[in-house]
Amino acid sequence: MKIKCPKCEKNAELSMDFSFVKCENCDFDMSYGEYVKFIAHNEKKYSDILGDYTGSTEGQSSGSLDEWD
Ligand SMILES: [Zn+2]
Repeated sequence: MKIKCPKCEKNAELSMDFSFVKCENCDFDMSYGEYVKFIAHNEKKYSDILGDYTGSTEGQSSGSLDEWD
């Protein structure tokens, strides 16, 4: 089935038996277990970034999304 690629945000394919996730638009290719970890890791990283922002009022950066490329 089609899911949103966590890397390029285009259509990725989740196999019917949930064994792997593969994206044709970028080189994303992981087992479903790895995919879940990847998502969890990115969400944690995002929370960390948000935590950094709340801890600092100095300036404003828009570079946080660059890591998706
Ligand atoms: Zn992709």
